[in-house]
Amino acid sequence: MKPARQIIERVRELCGEGAFPGRHAGRTASWDPDPFHVLISTVLSQRTRDQNTHVASSRLFARFDTPSELMSAKLAIIERLVRPAGFPKAKAKAIKEIARRIVEDYNGKVPSEIDELMTLPMVGRKTANCVRAYAFHIPSVCVDTHVHRISNRIGLVKSEDPERTEEQLMDQVPKDLWIDINSLFVRFGQKVCLPRGPHCWECPLTECCDLYAKYRPEPPRKSGTSARRDSKGRTLADPRGGEA
Ligand code: SF4
Repeated sequence: MKPARQIIERVRELCGEGAFPGRHAGRTASWDPDPFHVLISTVLSQRTRDQNTHVASSRLFARFDTPSELMSAKLAIIERLVRPAGFPKAKAKAIKEIARRIVEDYNGKVPSEIDELMTLPMVGRKTANCVRAYAFHIPSVCVDTHVHRISNRIGLVKSEDPERTEEQLMDQVPKDLWIDINSLFVRFGQKVCLPRGPHCWECPLTECCDLYAKYRPEPPRKSGTSARRDSKGRTLADPRGGEA
């Protein structure tokens, strides 16, 4: 069994404050991190960068700050406001419908149960868990692409899909750290354990990381150039990486 608490605390020391919808690059959003704002911002964060989420959320909430305001807003105006987050048509349609459902089905209050959250448009398990963690502070493991990749690289889990990663992390990680996993691993995945070419030479987890034990990715050989790597971060043409 991996030393999960030690791993997470080392990532915290390295990355400091975590990142999540409503906070990016050390800046806090202009809007309250209440369940409605966190839910809409998390939907906007899908398939875009933190900075774009931050801009789109700030523009949207400056104009429509409550579920009833948003459900009555014109779709074209919502599309224009959320455009920085990408996929404006799909996201605008979804968040307007979410606002309507919250007003009409939940009396203006975002539900906290995962099954209820997942009935809302564009709300899958990851988004629902993010809302539970960041808005309701309910211990939940929010598995996005960074959490899935890093947990598998280290060997905290062995899983092909995010749902199994969530289950295995809940077994491996003490419950008081579940909420922290997402925000810390997102930041760690952006700074050190990058999707392609992890910077293992800057990482405090080498002695407990399965990927490092197997492939030992190396730093770039010359300044300004990077060694060629495959999708697992293995250095190509490196005999220790086992590549031709
Ligand atoms: S040692 Fe490398 S692969 Fe392992 S967690 Fe650190 S950066 Fe990621």
